[in-house]
Amino acid sequence: MSAHTARGGRFYIHTFGCQMNVNDSLRMGEALATIGYRPTAVADQADLIILNTCAIREKAEDKMLSALGRYRAVKTQRGALLAVGGCVAQQEKSKLLARVPYLDFVFGPDAIGKLPELVTRVISDRVRVSETAWVDSEEYVFPRADPGSSAGKVSEFVTVMKGCDNVCSFCVVPHTRGREVSRPFVEVLEEVASLTGVGVREVTLIGQNVNSYRGGICFAELLLRVAQVPGIERIRFTTSHPHDLSDALIDAFRQEPRIAPHFHLPVQSGSNDVLRRMKRDYTVAEYLDRLAALRAARPGIAVTTDIIVGFPGETEDDFQATLTLTEQVRYENQFSFVFSARPRTVASLKEAEWGPVPHDLQIQRLDRLLALQRRISGEIAAALVGQEVEVLVEGPSRSDPSRHFGRTPENRTVNFDGTAPVGARARVRITHGSPSALLGVESSIVDLPPVPPLQPRTEAA
Ligand code: SF4
Repeated sequence: MSAHTARGGRFYIHTFGCQMNVNDSLRMGEALATIGYRPTAVADQADLIILNTCAIREKAEDKMLSALGRYRAVKTQRGALLAVGGCVAQQEKSKLLARVPYLDFVFGPDAIGKLPELVTRVISDRVRVSETAWVDSEEYVFPRADPGSSAGKVSEFVTVMKGCDNVCSFCVVPHTRGREVSRPFVEVLEEVASLTGVGVREVTLIGQNVNSYRGGICFAELLLRVAQVPGIERIRFTTSHPHDLSDALIDAFRQEPRIAPHFHLPVQSGSNDVLRRMKRDYTVAEYLDRLAALRAARPGIAVTTDIIVGFPGETEDDFQATLTLTEQVRYENQFSFVFSARPRTVASLKEAEWGPVPHDLQIQRLDRLLALQRRISGEIAAALVGQEVEVLVEGPSRSDPSRHFGRTPENRTVNFDGTAPVGARARVRITHGSPSALLGVESSIVDLPPVPPLQPRTEAA
């Protein structure tokens, strides 16, 4: 039987969705540590299981429900507590408790700091709890990363803002994460400095719409200031809206080499008609114009994107325009999905009027788009064979642990043979390139980690 009390036990967090959620899960772990909980990698041994959920697509919700069903056995056998956090919790609130009678509590993204209190209440008072209030103001206190738990890591996330003020017609984020709140820049800089103090060399600034950051300075200025923090080698950020790709931001890419040459710029569709229905306030020509300015400022920058296929009313011509755009931009990679209506969004209310695209056709179009992207990604990778690239070494390769894996400034993953330790920067000659992987051999070590030894990180699936 489980031995957990309000003052400790083992927790297991199953994370769905984006990097915001990955980061939120880390903060949950830190909050639970304050009441004596420690992590376990095995759900069956946990006293508390949290599903940190994503509501962006219907499929993500289905996955959460099937995972909950699996974890129910751990509750039955060990008396483990079961909780749902993240965007589905925020969207469904206490309705989720009614739908899933064996669930102990639900909590929204703004309630992470209250986790210790919630766990204590559930155990001591034997109640089921729903805590999903939003904090939509500058009063919001951003959960702060514990530098202790980042000690020895190569790369870390730093939250700079939350929520979104845009109203893209397909998107559930404004309903689950609320209005934009930016974190004061001084706090961001302090957190980055505390991370470099324990060996972190790369930070990724995250938020639903980071480039509309307004935490006392603009986002371009924030990037330039983070670059000045001693010990920082690379700065990344995600995710962005094309209408906030300002001249100042483009100029920051021109000025500051530590801003990594990779831009994830979701376009969503290559058709102006579809973009209008999506309430994306740019045209394809405007998007391409911004991208051209960015590429002029930082030649060789890698560009990735998100695309929704089969949005209501999408015709074959609209879809062809998306193929043409993909060919024209030559994205390094793209994260594309078929449209699924999300509750309370304009697209879900208007789907019937605009004309739903049959699911078979959506899948067919997605396959065509992904095949095109694979071809382009393969061509980009093949062109790198024989070239030397610089990688920041992160750990053993997932496919072959005798090899290392690291990422280039453009965010390309490279598996390679060599001796550079985790946290070092190394020059690697690329010997093989495919759409999914680059292989190489180390030619030299550029520098060693500042605070050895750094912890290996597992290569992402
Ligand atoms: S900008 Fe991004 S997060 Fe905001 S509503 Fe649009 S798709 Fe959603």
